[in-house]
Amino acid sequence: MSHGACFVAQTATSDILLRVTNVCGECYGDLHEGDTIYYDMQYYRYLCECCKEKLCDVMDEQTCEIIDENRQDSLFC
Ligand SMILES: [Zn+2]
Repeated sequence: MSHGACFVAQTATSDILLRVTNVCGECYGDLHEGDTIYYDMQYYRYLCECCKEKLCDVMDEQTCEIIDENRQDSLFC
């Protein structure tokens, strides 16, 4: 899988949901215990799978930086 260095896949635990976040950092959709969530190493936030996929599309694989700002504006999960 590409972008392995940009996002760390984790299973949402009650600990993460209580202490860090219970919503996606991008779309603010609810995260639920047992969901696969992705820690964004660039922005230090957790993302749902949908947002992670969309960010991967506009990201430079090497630097993990957003390279297509216009497309980022249209991100919507
Ligand atoms: Zn999201």
